[in-house]
Amino acid sequence: MTVIVAGGGIAGMTMALTCHELGLPVIVHESVSQLQPSGVGINLQPNAVRELYDLGLETQLDQIGVPAKEWALVGRNGNDVWAEPRGLDAGYLWPQYSVHRGRLQMLLYEEVLRRLGLNAVTTGSRLLRYESHDDSIRVSFQSGSGKVTSIEGSVLVGADGLHSAARHQMRPNEGPPVWGGPVMWRGTSEAVPIRTGASFVLVGKLDQRFVCYPISRPDPSTGLATINWIAELTYDTSQDWGDSDWNREVPVTKFLDQFQDWAFDWLDIPALIRGASTVYEYPMVDRDPIENWVDGRCVLIGDAAHVMYPVGSNGASQAIVDARVLGAAMQHLGVSVAALKSFEDAMLQDVNELVLRNRGAGPIGILGLVEERCGGVFDDIEDVIPRAEIEDYMARYKAAAGFAIETLNNSPRTILL
Ligand SMILES: Cc1cc2nc3c(=O)[nH]c(=O)nc-3n(C[C@H](O)[C@H](O)[C@H](O)COP(=O)(O)OP(=O)(O)OC[C@H]3O[C@@H](n4cnc5c(N)ncnc54)[C@H](O)[C@@H]3O)c2cc1C
Repeated sequence: MTVIVAGGGIAGMTMALTCHELGLPVIVHESVSQLQPSGVGINLQPNAVRELYDLGLETQLDQIGVPAKEWALVGRNGNDVWAEPRGLDAGYLWPQYSVHRGRLQMLLYEEVLRRLGLNAVTTGSRLLRYESHDDSIRVSFQSGSGKVTSIEGSVLVGADGLHSAARHQMRPNEGPPVWGGPVMWRGTSEAVPIRTGASFVLVGKLDQRFVCYPISRPDPSTGLATINWIAELTYDTSQDWGDSDWNREVPVTKFLDQFQDWAFDWLDIPALIRGASTVYEYPMVDRDPIENWVDGRCVLIGDAAHVMYPVGSNGASQAIVDARVLGAAMQHLGVSVAALKSFEDAMLQDVNELVLRNRGAGPIGILGLVEERCGGVFDDIEDVIPRAEIEDYMARYKAAAGFAIETLNNSPRTILL
């Protein structure tokens, strides 16, 4: 019997490809009537890239992504706090990719249609509810015209993101996602890539920061690449920023003046902000960790299970890894409640800790220490924080997020056929 997937985002599409690889019948129901390449840049950590390679997507991923070479934290005065190699340059066996989220989703979607057939994905079909029985699960979806259809399968994988209906049924009293104060503005602009040419750079301090990295290779004739950027400010939580919607467009004037004097000789932040044709506003939210992701024959994966602050570049990576670990459980235990539980046992505790770690600023928490110790102004960071202390901090984050270099390089494939 069929694996029913609700949500055709990164998690849902990876789940479908994984089921197909395992020879398991699968169908995806996605609420939007037509999938579009929505969003801006994201990073895929080597642990997730490895899984996509194992799915045979190496060439396609390399066509749409930029292998990241460096991850750098820069103080408000433009001096380096920390810089480390990333991906292959750091010694991983797989690259880290900076990629446009929508292009990645479309790549996965097209691959699902190519491998599984056009009927594998039903768009315009929104999960309403499920009814779990001993041997099967009945799932209701609603079309754009309001028509409700019920289908039966072996399990339901709730991959329906931040405002998950599957999660809402499991936890009806949970309420909306939690906003802790940060607001992000996201956009892309054409510019010459800085530093290594493929650097992820974060400038500023914890409550006001700017991130940029290229998500395309430079045009050979102009040298310009598409640069993804995020400007972020933290506000008092008594202010109302409305619901978190990834697609809310706003004018740059809403925040540009706060970054007006953030121009260095190597990076002109106001110019980058002004260069974007569209800017999206997103009050950064997460949800409190929960103690189970399984209810009968329904399991949550990706943001539905554990939406987290996008400070460690691991929301999409974790969604991919979830789908693969769940697939591996189904390979060994069948499409069964035991497999859902085994996935939950393998992942829940570590990922819940990661959610809390990201709420506490994740890998960029080091900027908090810089503020504390010198008010953010320094000439040489060694005078403020010894290198060994930062190294230790970063190593602990990578271990928690599942991409410690040696551990990942030496771990067996998640799915071995
Ligand atoms: C439009 C959009 C733009 C985004 N842009 C960015 C970005 O720029 N930067 C960033 O860091 N993250 C972005 N994200 C979030 C990021 O994709 C996720 O954090 C991460 O990839 C985890 O993936 P996911 O598949 O769990 O969730 P998502 O990628 O959010 O996918 C969930 C999918 O489920 C569908 N869905 C929702 N409700 C239902 C329902 N009831 N029934 C059926 N389907 C449903 C949604 O339409 C979506 O396609 C965006 C998400 C979306 C939906």
